Amino acid sequence: MFQDTASVLFGVEGLQVTDAQAGPDGTLEVWAVTDYPAAAACPDCGTVSARRHDTVLARPRDVRRGGDRVAVWWVKCRWKCGEPGCGRKTFTERLPQVPPRCRITARLREQAGAEVTERGITPSEAARHAGVSWPVAHRAFAAAADPVLEQAPAPVAHLGIDEHRRGRPRWRIDEDTGEYELLADRWHTCFFDLSGEQGLLGQVEGRTADDAAYWLAQAAPAWRDAVRVVAIDMCSVYASAVRRMLPGAQIAVDLFHVVHLAVKMTGDVRRRVVRGKYGRRGRSGDPEYGIKNLLARNLEHLSPAQFAKVTGTLQADPGGQEIAAAWIGKEKLRHALNLRAPVTGSVPCERAVRDRLFAFYDWCTQNDDIPELLSLARTVSRWEDEIVAAVLTGVTNAASESLNRLAKLEARLAYGFRNPANQRRRVRIACTRGRRRKSRTATSNRTHAVTGPKPHPG
Ligand SMILES: [Zn+2]
Repeated sequence: MFQDTASVLFGVEGLQVTDAQAGPDGTLEVWAVTDYPAAAACPDCGTVSARRHDTVLARPRDVRRGGDRVAVWWVKCRWKCGEPGCGRKTFTERLPQVPPRCRITARLREQAGAEVTERGITPSEAARHAGVSWPVAHRAFAAAADPVLEQAPAPVAHLGIDEHRRGRPRWRIDEDTGEYELLADRWHTCFFDLSGEQGLLGQVEGRTADDAAYWLAQAAPAWRDAVRVVAIDMCSVYASAVRRMLPGAQIAVDLFHVVHLAVKMTGDVRRRVVRGKYGRRGRSGDPEYGIKNLLARNLEHLSPAQFAKVTGTLQADPGGQEIAAAWIGKEKLRHALNLRAPVTGSVPCERAVRDRLFAFYDWCTQNDDIPELLSLARTVSRWEDEIVAAVLTGVTNAASESLNRLAKLEARLAYGFRNPANQRRRVRIACTRGRRRKSRTATSNRTHAVTGPKPHPG
């Protein structure tokens, strides 16, 4: 089949360009006729008709050329079906790119879907650019995204579980009982691939143990058996879901949250001491207030002058010594956590971690007049196995937190979501985009063959 240069450039299979001219406001007007033998086949009986009935003008919306809009004027035939037994009298031509009753070319629909899926713009922005409505752009996005998301996840050695807040909850009044009933929960539980590059594996509405267990129960048994370590925040709800559904996996709590608790405890003690000493909250000018940021910092990051300032301030009175005891407790806990391989560069032994944790407990019992310190020791001892597992394996939930940032960004771009299912789709596509970009090959395998004689230059 010979194709002229204009038709090749236009690139819609089955359309032969007969004329093209610049219209008003920069629109390119393209006139085309059908050049597709199968277009004359009756859709009911399949007989190729030779009896032309009428000529109609179709105006499918198409992709832009450069930045300009393209107005397509497709002159197409209405054929009469010649088969005596066929119930259909007439039919119009149809092309793979322009199916019957479609006013948008397939490539425009694909482009709108791919722009949301791969470029991360919103469906409403894609709709504006393509000149289609939001529902059309949204359906195109769903058609592009759903096949990607429906693939079963590959095995994951380190799984992360975290919660993510999605907007406000929605309620409905039950007409019979008059009671409020929850339509959509504001919390989602998210599952992340921490050892590979699959990003967000899935989400489920709600943040109870049953919600998390429900998602894990849907995974294949072989996939569940492959999970070695599960990283969670210090949240007993997820711990119980993991123990129920993944009995073979180790639980590791995120150490960032453990250190965060210790830093908060130091601040709580300082605020209580200051309130007892001055009868008011701390303010600039108080010696304790001057070191509040230094107390929150890691000991090894303090300069000798800063260290001297902290010790000089705290040894002045008994209240200061109480703050110092809390501060030392925090550092003793961090001393145990610092055995993890990313800090030391070597795999720690469990005995050493437990010994340093014991030194922390010992310090807390020596200072049992500080309630905040005792309460921290109780929390740490409750989570001791999970903390030790985190130090030994070096698994953290940091990747989950970074993907949570992407999820929040997506909600902000959308000015909030009303539909939780749409939000889950958009967030999952956003959180797996990096992996899809990497796996895509650099060269395209699509070719356009130009048949016919090569024009002689000049
Ligand atoms: Zn027919």
